[in-house]
Order: sequence, then structure tokens, then C-alpha cells
Amino acid sequence: MTTKANNPALRSWVEIPQNSDFPIQNLPFGIFKTEYMDAGAGVAIGEHVLDLTYLYENGFLDGLGLPAGVFNQKYLNDFMELGKKSTRAVRERLSELLSVDNDELSGNKAARELALIPMAEVEMLMPVRVPNYTDFYSSEQHAYNVGCMFRDPENALMPNWKHIPVGYHGRASSIVVSGTDFHRPKGQTKADDATMPSFGPCRLLDFELEMAFITCKENGLGESVSIDKAGDYIFGFVLLNDWSARDIQKWEYVPLGPFLAKSFASHVSPWIVTMDALEPFRVAGPNQDPEVLDYLKTDGDFHYDLDLQVGIQPADSEETVVCNSNFKHMYWNVQQQVAHHTVNGCNLQVGDMYGSGTISGPTPEAYGSMLELAWRGTKPLTLNDGSERKFIMDGDTVIMRGHAEKDGVRIGFGEVKATVLPAK
Ligand code: CA
Repeated sequence: MTTKANNPALRSWVEIPQNSDFPIQNLPFGIFKTEYMDAGAGVAIGEHVLDLTYLYENGFLDGLGLPAGVFNQKYLNDFMELGKKSTRAVRERLSELLSVDNDELSGNKAARELALIPMAEVEMLMPVRVPNYTDFYSSEQHAYNVGCMFRDPENALMPNWKHIPVGYHGRASSIVVSGTDFHRPKGQTKADDATMPSFGPCRLLDFELEMAFITCKENGLGESVSIDKAGDYIFGFVLLNDWSARDIQKWEYVPLGPFLAKSFASHVSPWIVTMDALEPFRVAGPNQDPEVLDYLKTDGDFHYDLDLQVGIQPADSEETVVCNSNFKHMYWNVQQQVAHHTVNGCNLQVGDMYGSGTISGPTPEAYGSMLELAWRGTKPLTLNDGSERKFIMDGDTVIMRGHAEKDGVRIGFGEVKATVLPAK
């Protein structure tokens, strides 16, 4: 819902650089630590982190009914579980404290200096403890591209695809925060002309450009969430790089779907941008034809106009942007994903992460994976330093960014980045 904190006219006394992802209208939540402080909750504002533990302990958040210690934690799960009414009230109060019209914090030099920590001095941690991870497959262009490559352009989409938001249960333990370097996975692969599989480092390592939503409310086992209530369960979004080992995947995925090709690492951006902050950027989705079953019917705009970008930076070289896509290009929306996920009585938990599936737009430069950008290796990309890429090489850093912009307000996610180290 649109709140006072979304007002484009709001200005903060904190200096916000031009094109910052974190103006006063955003106020995303994350978990940070510094050299001198244990992990705790914070909010991004310009180039600073606002320390919520400090604000709570010094009375700036009095009257909101918050339990003691709710921010002084390693994860945001307990805070999110307070419910939308409470978390929204916190965002509204922070907006008030940061506004030029309010001097409670700005007029208190000591408090101001203790509460605001330069981003350069903090380390961002995983924002939530993730009990469950589900990965959807909700971009029609992506499903079509993969169907063309591995099956047949005439029947690229499987018969269920426009009736079901297709997904699978993924691995939660290997979801890590931006900046966590990882090793190229090893595994079993089999070349088409080989009689036996072989073992070794993955040769076709790929990224997947995705968004993920994080849930803040549980439905009981056996209870379904109706589509008009789905929004109550979603706290916000992060950027997600859902790495894929394409050669391992090709050999292992029949008949039960992705397994070790996906579970070695998935990276998320550290700041959770709330659904409230993204409210002004909602847009209509595509016309869904054939008509979906009743429990998947939505009334209103539930897609988000959110520009997304992927860059590859080779070791000791400059970055090349290889993809510009947009979250609005999804076929299925998050409301439908929640309704479908729970229609059988499956219980969502607080902190669960739900990947959108690779977000590929309608044009080749908007494809959200190397598999599609270099079309299964047949059209290698040339990077700014002259090197070619079919897939991701050791030493490459993959960087994803995302932001929405309207009425002079830019709501951004920062970035998710990770460097691929050689196989162990
Ligand atoms: Ca995925």
C-alpha cells in the first residue's frame, strides 16, 4: 500500500548522492556489522547505514510496541514476523526521523553521529535465516528460449507452462550474501558422444538473473493462502544470482529436475527492499491466455517496472554490461506464485526465499543468462577487454543491479556480486 514514506516530495537531512539507490523513499532493511559492533539490523540511507539497535535503545522508536532486542540480532526474521502493520510503522517512523522537517535526530549531534555509520565501514551479512528456498520459472521468454534450445521451437513451452507457475524446491543452506566468493563446482557430466559420464570441474558455469521475494508470515500446514491475501505474506525483494552448472544440469535433471547443478551457491543482495517501497512501481502484467484457473486469477497490477542489469568483470579488467532486462517481463506474478505454492496446503515460513526464475526480456540483450545471451555457446559475447565468453570463467566477477525510477524517485537494490574461484 502507498504510505506517507513513499511521498516523492520527501527530502532527508542526510546527504543523498544523485542516482543513489537509497533515497528517503526506499529505506530497505539489512543486517550489518562493523569492526566494533556485532551483527544488527540497519536501514540504508544514501551512503550510510542507520543503526536500528541504537535508535531503539535510545528511545527513538518508542511507542511502536517493538519487543526488546528485536534489532540486536543476526537476522531480520523476528522483526519481519512482527507483521506488516509493525514493520510498516517502523519504516514510517524512520522516514519521519530522516526527514528535513524533523530535528529529533538531526538536531542531536551525538545521537546523529552514533546512529549513522558510513557504508564503507560496515560489512553486510545475510539479511535473513532462510528456512526454505523455492525457485520458480516464470519468464515466458526464458522458458521459450530454453525450450527452443533443448527441445523444439514449435513446442518450446511445456503443455503445463501457461496453467501453472512452474517451480521446484531448491537448497536453502547455500544461499549466501553478495561478496561471498565461491569455487567452481565439480560434478558428473556426460558428453553427447561419450558412452560413460566423467567427473571434473563444471565447464559451463552460468548466472541466472532473478529477483527473490522473502516471506514474513506463516500459513499453517494444510492452509492455503488465497490470492487476494498473498501480499500480506511478502515482506520485500532482493536481487538473486541463481548460479547454474549447465553441463551438470543437463546430465542429472531427468526425471526429478535440478539438483547439484543448482545447490552449490546462490547469491542475494544484502538490502531487502520492502513491498511498500516498490508500491509506486507496480504495472500490469501480460495478458494471460489461456485463462488461468480461478485460484490464480488476480485483479490489479502485480508486476514491477524494475530495470535490471548484469555485468561481467574479468580478473584485473574492466566490467562489461552484458544484459539489460526488466522485472516486468514476467508471465506469472508473485501473488500467483504464493497462491499456487500454498494451494495444496504447503506451509510458508518466515524468511523463506522465492526466486522468480531467470528474467529474460523480449530482445536478445535482455536475456538473463549466458546460456541464452551466447545461445548455447554458438554466439560468444565479446567483452570490453577483447576476451570472449560463452559461459563464466574462473576469476570473473558477476555483478547484478536493479532499480525502479519514477517521479524523480529512484528505488534501488544496490548490487549482488560474486567472484568465481577455480575449482578446489
Ligand atoms: Ca533459477
